[in-house]
Amino acid sequence: MIERRPTRQIHVGSVPVGGGAQVTVQSMTTTKTADVDGTLAQVYALTGAGADIVRITCNDVDAAQGLAEIVPRSPVPIVADVHFQYKLALAALEAGVHALRLNPGNIRNEAHIKEVARAAGERGVPIRIGVNGGSLDKDLLAKYGSAVPAALVESAETEIHYLEDVGFYDIKISVKHSHVPSMVESYRLLSQRVEYPLHLGVTEAGPPPGGLIKSVAGIATLLLEGIGDTIRFSLTADPVEEAKAGRQLLEYLGLRERAGLDLIACPSCGRAEVDVIEVVKEAQRRLEEADLPIQVAVMGCVVNGPGEAREADIGIAAGRGKGHLFIKGNVVRVVPEAEMVDALLDEARKLVEEGVEARLAAADGVAEQLAAEAAEEILQIQGDVNHTEERRARVAEVAKSSP
Ligand code: SF4
Repeated sequence: MIERRPTRQIHVGSVPVGGGAQVTVQSMTTTKTADVDGTLAQVYALTGAGADIVRITCNDVDAAQGLAEIVPRSPVPIVADVHFQYKLALAALEAGVHALRLNPGNIRNEAHIKEVARAAGERGVPIRIGVNGGSLDKDLLAKYGSAVPAALVESAETEIHYLEDVGFYDIKISVKHSHVPSMVESYRLLSQRVEYPLHLGVTEAGPPPGGLIKSVAGIATLLLEGIGDTIRFSLTADPVEEAKAGRQLLEYLGLRERAGLDLIACPSCGRAEVDVIEVVKEAQRRLEEADLPIQVAVMGCVVNGPGEAREADIGIAAGRGKGHLFIKGNVVRVVPEAEMVDALLDEARKLVEEGVEARLAAADGVAEQLAAEAAEEILQIQGDVNHTEERRARVAEVAKSSP
């Protein structure tokens, strides 16, 4: 049994981090954030693979505007990754993100950092101080000669003081290094000095298998010492592999339960055509009874549901009084809404027995067309129900405001 180091608890959206909460898995999208549908599809894929929290880059105004659309449609909390431009951190907050990651090595102006902390504090949004051996503050590099553990920890502590100065304590910290012994030493040192929760990772670990081995070596060593509250594998690979590996590591160390049925669901938004929570409850109860080893998605609308959850084995999306059953993103059957959970169970059983190819071959030939018509009808009736343009304009205004 691993005895975990006590830390403060923060909340990234609905997910607790630290303070005895289960260790969580994070990953990061590789899409352009401005590509809202592509990014959401990856967020869903990462969630299905075991990610509890997903980080998305916020590297320009288009990305910040993309976040405004992604956040309300994401099944898990979203962290905006911000470098260099503090205005983009403010814009990401305006976009509604659940947490920020700031790199103290490249956002160095104390007044700017404090302005971001105040804005985050007003919204109850935590900040990760994300120190990275490869992008360490240049003054610290000059002082220490290289990115040694003491330099990484000093960078984190300077940033902590800036945040605490304005009464901000919703903090988690990472001190990542690509050299495993330096990474382990940095976290050990930091954990003796702060009570904030720690986000573990070996940065720029590279492609598997080397990247996996480095990540496991660093992260597992610390977790076994009770250090670490949330983890990320930084692999040069499909991020789904990162999420899977992170999840597996926690299961192997006995820090997470083994996953059975994998049910993912959209959080519901202005487009929802059905009470997603009720449908999910019923689907979960019946799927657990059936004990089917598959990933199932329950989505509130057919406009975006099949695309967002296209990595799921099977899913259902509501629209215009109908349930649209999809397999790997392809709509295969349309049924009355009252029968959607029955149909989901029926198709899920057949999918497990017959496989994806056979069930796609058995698809109702008009289902895709019916789904497209329902989506079009919803778009015409609802219009911009998520106030997308208004939110994008506000985000751009914050990002571009002077100075
Ligand atoms: S209701 Fe539709 S657009 Fe909204 S989160 Fe669910 S699937 Fe996505």
